[in-house]
Amino acid sequence: VGKTETNRIATSLLENIKTQIRTEPFEDIYNVIPDKELGRGKFAVVRRCMEKGTGKVYAAKFLRKRRKGQDCRVEVLHEIAVLELTEPNPRIISLHQVYETPAEMVLVLEYAAGGEIFDQCVAEGDEAFTQEEVKQLMRQILEGVDFLHRNNIVHLDLKPQNILLTSGRPLGDIKIVDFGLSRRLCQNQELREIMGTPEYVAPEILNYEPISTATDMWSIGVLAYVMLTGTSPFLGDDKQGTFLNISQINIDYTEDELQDLPASAVDFIQSLLIKEPKCRATAEECLRHRWLQEQAQKTEEDLTSEFCQPAHTSPSTSLSSFCSPSSG
Ligand code: ADP
Ligand code: MG
Repeated sequence: VGKTETNRIATSLLENIKTQIRTEPFEDIYNVIPDKELGRGKFAVVRRCMEKGTGKVYAAKFLRKRRKGQDCRVEVLHEIAVLELTEPNPRIISLHQVYETPAEMVLVLEYAAGGEIFDQCVAEGDEAFTQEEVKQLMRQILEGVDFLHRNNIVHLDLKPQNILLTSGRPLGDIKIVDFGLSRRLCQNQELREIMGTPEYVAPEILNYEPISTATDMWSIGVLAYVMLTGTSPFLGDDKQGTFLNISQINIDYTEDELQDLPASAVDFIQSLLIKEPKCRATAEECLRHRWLQEQAQKTEEDLTSEFCQPAHTSPSTSLSSFCSPSSG
């Protein structure tokens, strides 16, 4: 995305930042817990830390201000502004405090102890989500995304690594994170080409066509597929192969992975993986979709069949490349 466009969009939200940006040393207020990092991206590292005064645990996202030789402070401020705007919604991670050093900004976030849903998406057997769990999590994801879209915010990087859980087992609630690529849509300005993660990007991104809330809905379609099957529907041998699969909507609904799913789940995915953005279901429509409305029949038979089975049974060999580092 052009620098000027990024700045213009960011600026529209910046006037409203209410969070105090603290300059006292972060280490005076928090102990960084010296276990392994919670996560790491190109420009950010996330660590667990404890607020000394309260003993409460948070996730601190340390963001470099200089990236590729450019000052990106304004982009971090945009991420803060979006987190402020989404504060009332429980499906979106909340922001506790912000610190600034000469080189970094530190976003102190609510800690999601269950980690990324990614891990359970690609897990096997008992570790994997059941179909009922996938439905429950998908409802929550859609509630969060519906809130974003009602506020004209597009996330643009929805994927299993950016959907966290408050706890793993017993299964907690989801929290959407990572608003680094998110944008506020403006009525009279078109927004194009903000690159998310290859496997999850919508055709309009690849074609340099306008971005809308429907762009996120494509990613929700991919996410549903991944959560239900444990495989990535458009993943190619390389980035170009993936992009080709997306632009051709090269997806086979007769594949083994989909055969075992209820027809309503496949219909849900099909209502989202549509080239024309206007034809895709909205978050609100998805919440009303038959697949998510269907109640589990807790009969003896169900408990021993679909109800308790992992959403997917045979892991795909392509998962190793699915795990490769991505842009965000
Ligand atoms: P990036 O822009 O580098 O992808 P993210 O905000 O997605 O940054 O954070 C990177 C990773 O750190 C996430 O995928 C997740 O695993 C972990 N993480 C981020 N925020 C939290 C949080 N609040 N609680 C627990 N883990 C987190
Ligand atoms: Mg991320």
